[in-house]
Amino acid sequence: MVPTPLGNLADITERARAILRETAWVAAEDTRHSAPLLKYLGSRARLLAAHEHNEEQAAARILALLAAGESVALISDAGTPAISDPGARIVASVHAAGGRVIPLPGACAATTALSAAGLSHPHWFFYGFLPASASQRQKALNDLAGLACALVFYEAPHRVLKSVVDMNKCLGATRTLVIAREISKQFEQICRLPLGEAAAWLKADAMRQKGEFVLIVAADENAREKAVADSGLRALRLLLQEGLPKSQAVRLAAALTGANRNALYECALADE
Ligand code: SAM
Repeated sequence: MVPTPLGNLADITERARAILRETAWVAAEDTRHSAPLLKYLGSRARLLAAHEHNEEQAAARILALLAAGESVALISDAGTPAISDPGARIVASVHAAGGRVIPLPGACAATTALSAAGLSHPHWFFYGFLPASASQRQKALNDLAGLACALVFYEAPHRVLKSVVDMNKCLGATRTLVIAREISKQFEQICRLPLGEAAAWLKADAMRQKGEFVLIVAADENAREKAVADSGLRALRLLLQEGLPKSQAVRLAAALTGANRNALYECALADE
């Protein structure tokens, strides 16, 4: 599994260069697209096509080559193969046949964008491309809204504005959005702003909706606190229903859920 540059040819690793030069076979998502890169690297490898519409046949062909003692390097158009790109089915077939899959570290738009996002929360969830239809996109975003972590999306230029508008609607205007555009290319732009301001930012300059995008919605800072408070309140109400005295119910609910004792006590008084 050989990552290739996202935009800047200098981002090819030494190891990727060596593998692509030494391996007799390269399976590529688009052989015409990758031919210039292979030429630039001095690779004389024979190319075979491995894209989303022929992945099973490609897997069979690759397995036959491996069985004959060959090695095959798998590349996609850009970045790491099998990350929102073809490759996973081929990898699964090779594992199933007892073959060895060797992943090379390298360029990936999601992790590169994350490194420049400045997120304080340690967890993130990679979604990839949102659905193209508005209703399915909004459903997907609503399903993600409760996750207490950052959300990482890939997006195409003709849909970036619509997606950002839906993210604002479904995830909330106060969450931070990081727009990573054209990473490692001439017009690279990394912009960090509240989701509520993102559509206006994109519309302010026609160039801002051009190119390739990673969109990162930072974790909802208040989500964990709110979840703890909600579960504390649920526990408190249950204990009160069971007839426990108020002070004991508050103490237990706080100890069980981590919710703030004073806040729970105020809720218990308000519920009276
Ligand atoms: N396998 C690739 C990887 O490792 O990142 C991703 C392939 S996916 C088909 C292509 C998407 O990745 C683009 O639509 C865009 O969302 C993102 N992407 C690729 N190159 C990028 C770049 N230079 N800047 C920002 N996003 C990029």
